[in-house]
Amino acid sequence: MAFKEKLVDVRAVIDLPVSFYGDREAWAKALEDEARDLRAFLRDHRSRDSYGITIERVHESRCEYCGDLEEAAMVEGIPWCCGAAQEEYCKINGMAMSELEDK
Ligand SMILES: [Zn+2]
Repeated sequence: MAFKEKLVDVRAVIDLPVSFYGDREAWAKALEDEARDLRAFLRDHRSRDSYGITIERVHESRCEYCGDLEEAAMVEGIPWCCGAAQEEYCKINGMAMSELEDK
C-alpha cells in the first residue's frame, strides 16, 4: 500500500455555539467573535487565563471538475487528475491533448 495514515499533528478542539450558514468566511468571523467572548470569560477566571483559543482557517485547492486535491493532481505544473483539467491546460497553453503524452 503506497499510502499509510500517520499521526502528524495534534490540536485541541473547542466547540463554540456558532452555526454554519453558507459563507465560510462569515462563519470564521463569527467563530472569532465567539472566541473573543470566551477569552474575556476566561480572563475573569484567573486560574485558567493561560488558555488560548485560535480559529484556524484550513484552505485546500481542488480541481473544479473532479474534486481531486491540487497537490496530488499536479505533476510539474500539469494536471493529471482528469480529462477536463487536461483539456483546459492544453487550451490555455495552446497545445493538443496528444502533446501531453510526450511530457
Ligand atoms: Zn480533475
